[in-house]
Amino acid sequence: MPSNPAKLKIIWLQGITCNGNTHSFLNDPSLGRLLESVEFIHHPLLACTLNLSELVEHLPASDILIIEGSYKADFERAYRRMDSVLPALAAKAEHIVSLGSCASFGGIFKEADPERISGIVFDREKALGPLAEMMPKVITLSGCPVHPKWLTFVIDMIRAGKAISVDEFRRPKELYAYLVHNGCLRNEYFEWKVDSDRFGTKEGCLFYAQGCQAPFTHGSCNKILWNEVSSKTRSGTPCFGCTEPSFPKRELFSTKTYMSIPAEVPLGVPKRSYLALTGAAKSFHIKRLEERLIDDNA
Ligand code: SF4
Repeated sequence: MPSNPAKLKIIWLQGITCNGNTHSFLNDPSLGRLLESVEFIHHPLLACTLNLSELVEHLPASDILIIEGSYKADFERAYRRMDSVLPALAAKAEHIVSLGSCASFGGIFKEADPERISGIVFDREKALGPLAEMMPKVITLSGCPVHPKWLTFVIDMIRAGKAISVDEFRRPKELYAYLVHNGCLRNEYFEWKVDSDRFGTKEGCLFYAQGCQAPFTHGSCNKILWNEVSSKTRSGTPCFGCTEPSFPKRELFSTKTYMSIPAEVPLGVPKRSYLALTGAAKSFHIKRLEERLIDDNA
């Protein structure tokens, strides 16, 4: 397929991955608009200029190199090791996007071989990955998977030549400065400490009984909605904290407590003040919040 000089050239390379970010990206309702303005030199599923064997043979330059999946030096793509393919492609890329929690911090695959599997820049919180020295041109998009609109935002910003303000892990502040707790429709329940211990309910907060990690997880899942209508907490499932370097945490769906007190309190809130506030809020017993709001005979 001939190259179009007017389009942004993108290479999408996969490390050790479940393809979750690829599928999330392909489900973006605005994908058609994006595809009109970019050219995939290589993508694992879309029509592209080079197949995988040609990619690892030619190692071409790109405007954006997107890496999906965890890094392991001897993991192979088209019979070439990642430690020969990745640095060579990265050196010739103008921008690099670390897509998903596996490429960003090691993610779920790191559990299989903790000493040898990492993200491309970060190994959990530490900048020890193979592209650590190229950090200034890396944008981290953590998430399992990443919301497709977060990737579209980064591509659009790069195409427009605009600077992207980032946090300590190189995540765009526009997308990760908020906590996932921000914008959740259950905030009133959180405020008055009315909890739900069942999946899928429309009422109640999921923090005390179901291990919701949104009060200490950075991301805009409740601001930029999934499929433009929903999010985990809106549909009654607790946040798993998938955008953080510590993901995956053990014991999902339960809140660790000491003598009925949560081990972790919302980010930046002093524990003593939080506990005092919680005690006061719980004493109110607001009947409206303790009833089903929508009687669906469930
Ligand atoms: S369900 Fe989670 S995100 Fe929603 S209010 Fe409770 S703690 Fe916050």
